[in-house]
Amino acid sequence: MNPMFPIRLLIATLIILCAAPSARAGEGHFAIAIHGGAGTILKQNMTAEKEKAYRDTLTKALEIGYAVLEKGGSSLDAVERTIRFMEDSPLFNAGKGSVFTNKGTNEMDASIMEGRSLRAGAVAGVRRLQNPITVARLVMEKSPHVMMVGEGAEQFAKTQGVEWVDPSFFHTERRWKDLEKARARENKKAAKKTDKHGTVGVVALDQAGNLAAGTSTGGMTNKKYGRVGDSPIIGAGCYADNQSCAVSATGHGEYFIRAAVAHEIAARIKHRGEGVQQAADAVVRDQLVHMGGSGGVIAMDRQGRVAFSFNTPGMYRGSRVKGGQPYVGIYKK
Ligand code: ASP
Repeated sequence: MNPMFPIRLLIATLIILCAAPSARAGEGHFAIAIHGGAGTILKQNMTAEKEKAYRDTLTKALEIGYAVLEKGGSSLDAVERTIRFMEDSPLFNAGKGSVFTNKGTNEMDASIMEGRSLRAGAVAGVRRLQNPITVARLVMEKSPHVMMVGEGAEQFAKTQGVEWVDPSFFHTERRWKDLEKARARENKKAAKKTDKHGTVGVVALDQAGNLAAGTSTGGMTNKKYGRVGDSPIIGAGCYADNQSCAVSATGHGEYFIRAAVAHEIAARIKHRGEGVQQAADAVVRDQLVHMGGSGGVIAMDRQGRVAFSFNTPGMYRGSRVKGGQPYVGIYKK
């Protein structure tokens, strides 16, 4: 017998043992979690009809993503399709329901990331794209880049067969009134921090064990000078890595960028071995609170365990794990 044989056998066995848990981790299992923004969402300010509309739309969004995963579809497809549905709803600050800039325009940002390959795509400041998340995915899959902005992103979308919509498509009365209120506050020099968010985000684990994350937003009401928040920034508003977790964030973007929120959560899991809820809370309920940044995240680990963490009175959210019932929440409890 070759004297090296037992050593080779030992090495081969070790490689198989080390690789096995990651290959098995998600197999057959799947899960999805969503958010529709965090902020001062209080029961006393909500009408029964409005609450029902949010709950119904969140439930429907979960159904869309869950169906993709149940049929063996990819987490990337689940993320994109669910976000497209949420972008088309006027309830959320993304796509159709996007908030207005100070100039009275709508400038949207979106990002998507695949945990298996660490590929990512993003768009920022787009004004003519009905579903920015789809173009973010096209940037990832059909270009050598990660992020495109403004008219360049719109031109690229056109080359990929995406139709433009007229910017007036994004005009909704509710968001226009929000802008008027924000301008009035500013004029009175009583501008307080915007306390309502409505960004949307999805994280998912598919049956092949792959994680994905996506985030889409209209940004913050009354934003100026081409301001871009965390939502399209990989590592801030969105991150996915099969070795740790998938994260989508919502909140006061400047703080989320500075704290590299989504990557920080992933890093705590990967390098410190923290659980997904523990890692999310450490960043959102501890670090961000110290910095003064409000908002929240949804996160999912490679076993499909879901964490919701927010430091605001509420966050529109939901989840569904293989074989389980859908969960939808709005307020703290
Ligand atoms: N994070 C988004 C931004 O700063 C806003 C939000 O989540 O509500 O643009």
